[in-house]
Amino acid sequence: MKSTVLGYPRIGPGRELKRAVERYWAGELGERELHAEGARLRRTVWEQLRDAGLSEIPSSTFSFYDQVLDTAMLFDAVPERYRRLGRGALDTSFAMARGTAEVAPLEMTKWFDTNYHYVVPEFGPGTAFRLADDAPVREVAEARQLGVTPRPVLLGPVSLLLLGKPETGAGPEFRPLDLLDALLEPYAELLATLADAGVEWVQLDEPTLVADRTETELAAVQRAYDRLGSLSRRPKLVVASYFGDLGDALRVLARTPVDGLALDLVAGERNLTLLTDQGGLGNKTLYAGVVNGRNVWRTDLRATLSRCVPLLGLCRELVVSTSCSLLHVPLDLELELTGAPTGLDPLLRPWLAFARQKVDEVIILARALGEGAAVVGGELSDNDAALRTRRNATWSVVPEVRERLAALRPEDSRRATPHEERARLQRESLGLPELPTTTIGSFPQTKEIRRTRSAFRSGRIEPQEYERRMHAEIDHVLELQRRVGLDVLVHGEPERNDMVQFFAERLVGFASTEHGWVQSYGTRCVRPPIIFGDVHRPEPITVEWTRYAQSRTDRPVKGMLTGPVTMLLWSFVRDDQPHEATARQIALALRDEVADLEAAGIRVIQVDEPALREGLPLRRDQQAGYLGWAVGAFRLATSGVADTTQIHTHMCYSEFGEIVAAIDDLDADVTTVEAARSGMSLVKDLGGYRRQIGPGVYDIHSPRVPDVAEIVAQLRQVIEVVGPHRVWVNPDCGLKTRGYAEVEPALRNMVVAAKQLRARV
Ligand code: GLN
Ligand code: ZN
Repeated sequence: MKSTVLGYPRIGPGRELKRAVERYWAGELGERELHAEGARLRRTVWEQLRDAGLSEIPSSTFSFYDQVLDTAMLFDAVPERYRRLGRGALDTSFAMARGTAEVAPLEMTKWFDTNYHYVVPEFGPGTAFRLADDAPVREVAEARQLGVTPRPVLLGPVSLLLLGKPETGAGPEFRPLDLLDALLEPYAELLATLADAGVEWVQLDEPTLVADRTETELAAVQRAYDRLGSLSRRPKLVVASYFGDLGDALRVLARTPVDGLALDLVAGERNLTLLTDQGGLGNKTLYAGVVNGRNVWRTDLRATLSRCVPLLGLCRELVVSTSCSLLHVPLDLELELTGAPTGLDPLLRPWLAFARQKVDEVIILARALGEGAAVVGGELSDNDAALRTRRNATWSVVPEVRERLAALRPEDSRRATPHEERARLQRESLGLPELPTTTIGSFPQTKEIRRTRSAFRSGRIEPQEYERRMHAEIDHVLELQRRVGLDVLVHGEPERNDMVQFFAERLVGFASTEHGWVQSYGTRCVRPPIIFGDVHRPEPITVEWTRYAQSRTDRPVKGMLTGPVTMLLWSFVRDDQPHEATARQIALALRDEVADLEAAGIRVIQVDEPALREGLPLRRDQQAGYLGWAVGAFRLATSGVADTTQIHTHMCYSEFGEIVAAIDDLDADVTTVEAARSGMSLVKDLGGYRRQIGPGVYDIHSPRVPDVAEIVAQLRQVIEVVGPHRVWVNPDCGLKTRGYAEVEPALRNMVVAAKQLRARV
């Protein structure tokens, strides 16, 4: 019985990839040295997988920046403006990913519902595909030197086109998918070369097929795989899907002459029904994605084994696999056990499996299926014992939290008075002008602030000294806001490293890792917290900082919290209870924080939910269920306040068309959103939104200072749609990545613009 994984982390145990690429960008490392480091990292992965005993090892899962970008480059889909720079392949790809002094980068967007981001390729009627490189073939040769004949992994032609977008000027009729037939030619050429190189299997990833697809798109899938499947010179082809079930595409693919399908049997449980309904895959190979590639929990091996047995009858050959690439989990739990003492509780460790451990799980399952459970009896018993410690743990269960949740009544998630009435009361009690001005929370995080935080963490300065310096920073930020004339002030968030990690470190039920890095995009990696147990708040988190700020000014200071949905989606979430239950526990902890802020005299409280939209399930029929509990959690966190306390929320995107009803349903008094960066495109969606809105009037991702006239013009567009009484004036997002040199003039212009408009309405 064969075992495999659909992909593996490429950043290295010490984020070597990040360091090497950044040194290359800084001119400290040559191109040849960078390639050598890439080769070394690939070799390390292959050796690790080979020595673990995995029977099929993937290749071409490495990338210096992003695999979608690499695939576009492989087939020469380089927009003219980057080609014109006249650089070599590597620098052209970095120019596309990051931009240069002359050209802006390609857009980057989320990879399905993960926290990975890919570079969005552009296609136009003039895109001429050709096989521009032989990187996949070279990688095969590299792996061969280690005694491994790998299975090259390529993004499939349909997904490459569907993930891309039409280039500017492509014309309204043009769809990237129109290019499919032309794109199939270089794919065919590459497959022939790989066959000549002795490759047995090639994996073509088509993750776009787990979302709803039109008949035209399904017909394209059929055409693509009929064509590639009937090539005379090709390796065996497995079409891989992940992050959900294939829906109608399963039937379509099953009819094509490809040799195997990889199905996600974790996120795509429905795949099993689809498979059974159509009587199995016939003589195709089934890559059964039974080990979860998206979370960090140890697999229940015996339960998984019994789920695998019936699969044997549904295909010619079964390969035990992960549900998706392991790119989305940290590399190796062992790293937490060695080196510096880490924050990961020893009691928690036996419950976890990172990428390296998941490889072992796949291998154990394959052996048990092929040779009988007895040959891995020891491993299965170990697994039983570890899972038992998790099931029977009392230290992660907090009965008070469960009792409190069970006792909640519907009115606990509902504010007593309708929004219009609250708005009137708040206007009076806060004494705000029309078009009130505010910011999103953070102010520039200077080197000095970071240094102070790290000195405090490592015990190099005393708590009193830390507090003194943070207070000085808060005073400085308040003084700036007073100087430019803002109406609702913030304390600036100097104490926060990251909006999720900061709260995770202060809530019971969340754990942090020391080495649990996961690639977010390019060289950027994050360490998501792990939610392992019942969540509660042992003590107030932000109250003292906010109270201090409020004590220094007569203007309202806005309290600043990260919302329950964002806390959940940007963490690894426990899998032993529904997400809704976990979200409600976090919401309850935040509800206490909101109450304490209110009791400390804070009259405006912002609960950020930048992740709300990205949690939306890929299939439309599952979206209402998600939005129901997500909105419920936000309301539970925020509904306990008096009518005169104003709740704000913030989101970092403007395309809220599809979720505008849900945003309205949050019942926040004010929603601030990104808008300037996307040219006030939100205006078209505001019809369904009845509460107050703060469209971002300048892009905080750029150092550019917007002038007064342009801010006025943007605000006018919004006022035209919703009238002057519901509009707030604020930047697109927090200011933490900016410098003071830009922040002060930009905010000043923003306030001047608001004042000019006030005089006229
Ligand atoms: N309050 C946060 C800040 O200003 C919001 C960050 C975000 O929306 N991503 O930094
Ligand atoms: Zn934001």
